Amino acid sequence: VAEPALGTMGAAGITLADIGGLADVKKRLDMSFLTPLRNPELRLRFGKSLRGGLLLWGPPGCGKTLIARALAGELGASFYEIGLSDVLDMWIGSSERNLRDIFATARRNRPCLLFFDEIDALGQKRSHLRGGGSAMRGVVNQMLAELDGATTDNEGLFVLAASNHPWDVDSALLRPGRFDRTVLVLPPDAEAREAILRLHLRGKPAERLDLARIAKVSDGMSGADLALVCEQATETAMEESMATGRVRPITQRHLQDAVKSVSPSIGEW
Ligand code: ATP
Repeated sequence: VAEPALGTMGAAGITLADIGGLADVKKRLDMSFLTPLRNPELRLRFGKSLRGGLLLWGPPGCGKTLIARALAGELGASFYEIGLSDVLDMWIGSSERNLRDIFATARRNRPCLLFFDEIDALGQKRSHLRGGGSAMRGVVNQMLAELDGATTDNEGLFVLAASNHPWDVDSALLRPGRFDRTVLVLPPDAEAREAILRLHLRGKPAERLDLARIAKVSDGMSGADLALVCEQATETAMEESMATGRVRPITQRHLQDAVKSVSPSIGEW
């Protein structure tokens, strides 16, 4: 039997300030997630429990994973990212065991934020497990038991999930006390695109750049597309630097050329 896929782990190293745009999302997460966690006395006073997880949904590349990492950073928690399709094993019972091991490891590393990407992989409709829907039911039940923490203590364990296809997420996972709070992570508007570009160019040698202009002509681009634009512009500047033997800054032209070469991925969603 293959080792369970434990995903990537480590200190998150980033905070909400490292995310461009998404002002409403950040505000909501601060109020409904971080503030109660940081104020246990107030939580107790209002009888607010910490049960349940948070589901982030929206098109690919718009910052769901980044948000999860930033929340871990804000909480000083270790961070585990799990691609759920990696957990699923065609052998009945193995997927449940994989999931149990993941939660056990996360609990040993508390405070820990566990982030399940592709939570829709647990949806019955997409089941590829031997035994089909009924085998998947076992995995969903295992997930519910772990989230409930009925037999274990989940203090210091934060569970987040993400999906590009929330309509495929098993409805049992969305009931109260489970992934009952949903946060929509939308593609960036022009202002957010400018902020994302600025973040990705931070600290690099650059001439005076009109990023608002680049933001204007990059409609339909996700944060991941914009990161690629910055990477390409950086590479061109580096190539020129190597060719001339001195540091050549990133220019407006580098960015304009890069924008033209990257195709916007929003719209395919
Ligand atoms: P998927 O659904 O494909 O898993 P995702 O929504 O989780 O996508 P991320 O992994 O968070 O997307 O984003 C991919 C990369 O794009 C990030 O590592 C980051 O470089 C960049 N990025 C996306 N959104 C933002 C943002 N709002 N601010 C800064 N960078 C961003």
